[in-house]
Amino acid sequence: MNVSTISKQTYEIKEELDFLQRTKIEFTEAIQFINSEIRSVERGVIKFLEQPFRQSTVRFPVRMDDGSIEIFTGFRVQHSRLCEPTKGGIRYAPDIDLNLITALAFDMTLKCRVVDIPFGGAKGGVCCDPKRMSRAELDRLTRRYTYEILHVIGPDSDVPAPDVGTGEREMGIIFDTYRMFNPRCTCASAVVTGKPLNLGGSPGRDQATAWGGIYALEEAVKRRHIRDLPSLEDATVIIQGFGNAGYNAAKILYEDYGCRIVGISDSKGGIYTKDGLNPEKVLDHKNNISTEKSVIGYGGLQELNSKQLLTKPCDILIPAAKETQIVGEISKEIKASVILDLANGPTTNLAHRILFDKGVYVLPDILANAGGVTVSYFEWLQNRAGENWELSVVREKLRKKMVSAYTNVVETATKHDIDLRKAAFVFAISKAIDILLGRGVFP
Ligand code: NAD
Repeated sequence: MNVSTISKQTYEIKEELDFLQRTKIEFTEAIQFINSEIRSVERGVIKFLEQPFRQSTVRFPVRMDDGSIEIFTGFRVQHSRLCEPTKGGIRYAPDIDLNLITALAFDMTLKCRVVDIPFGGAKGGVCCDPKRMSRAELDRLTRRYTYEILHVIGPDSDVPAPDVGTGEREMGIIFDTYRMFNPRCTCASAVVTGKPLNLGGSPGRDQATAWGGIYALEEAVKRRHIRDLPSLEDATVIIQGFGNAGYNAAKILYEDYGCRIVGISDSKGGIYTKDGLNPEKVLDHKNNISTEKSVIGYGGLQELNSKQLLTKPCDILIPAAKETQIVGEISKEIKASVILDLANGPTTNLAHRILFDKGVYVLPDILANAGGVTVSYFEWLQNRAGENWELSVVREKLRKKMVSAYTNVVETATKHDIDLRKAAFVFAISKAIDILLGRGVFP
């Protein structure tokens, strides 16, 4: 199938498809580029790769601060066991369901192949609004959720990590709960990554997603792959989402690369100024000055909504919030030269086609945000070996992984004359098929 046929088909795809449906379409399109012999002889391997291995849904009670009891729904999906343990974050958000968690787990399977780390894909989450819950309520929820999924997680089976709405504190509680029920496990800390440093966390894990994306971006700039962007120095940057991934990307690009951060948004809205923003000062405003705990109101700047900000002038656009943000209509108005997908699934299939045809260089999520799972792997290795690596060692290993992954994806894109997102899928699926065929089918 040639690229123009795919382009035409993809333009017809309806925007209302959810992330899982979009991922399956991308998967099916990518399969067209993989060795035809594998396709005909081992069709079942492809089906096996497409379906999640195990989907768990749990409902459990949590005592709230006012004495009432609320029932929460949680999920853990292990998408593929082609490499074990499986690996993936835990999301606390009000708008999650089994479909979204399955799509995110599917992406994790592919992401691990892109950066070549020996994990399968997984994802989990609890349907809740952490911003409306107290610290004590969240702690109780985390313990009970961990208890409910204890039988499917473990250092050798499935290893959670932070994602939207969770961080070091939740990871510490997951570790502690697992330890309580597995007193003889000698490497219990490896049950979860993204832990606080004093519980076995790795230096650099908090900034890993941002650093990983920036290493890939730096390589693209160095190789002159991005139109109109010969250097990162003084490049203008807009960031959607000001949490772990977005804030750290802003800080690193501002402090280490001399970029100008011209726009930032969070769930409440955004701000933009050609003069540039200091991310530390914006964070201070959000945490300590804003009554809404938002970037809006900073420096008396005019408030924009998060989607308006995406189409403001900049060189580098970084979606770092959530899925389905850059849709077809918005993509037509985007002025950036490059998009660095730190969020998972921020761009719809239609938007991807439009951006590709416009010549916008998109570093896709399963490549661009793979730094998080890569340093999670380093943390897991350190926990198992009883080691503590220096930050400089972690950064250098991460840089090597990201440069190698970027090179492999670009080579695949060049070979098939396709965009980087499709190329990342093609590369990841062919590596996964190699592993599956190498292992064979049990029994
Ligand atoms: P986080 O909870 O720390 O931050 C999310 C941020 O997005 C918050 O500032 C929130 O206010 C903002 N936000 C939510 N909805 C928004 C909207 N509509 N417009 C603008 N901002 C909005 O989460 P995170 O860990 O930084 O994750 C962000 C994205 O990166 C997610 O897609 C996640 O899956 C992906 N990701 C994270 C990691 C990691 O290590 N944390 C790794 C890989 C991928």
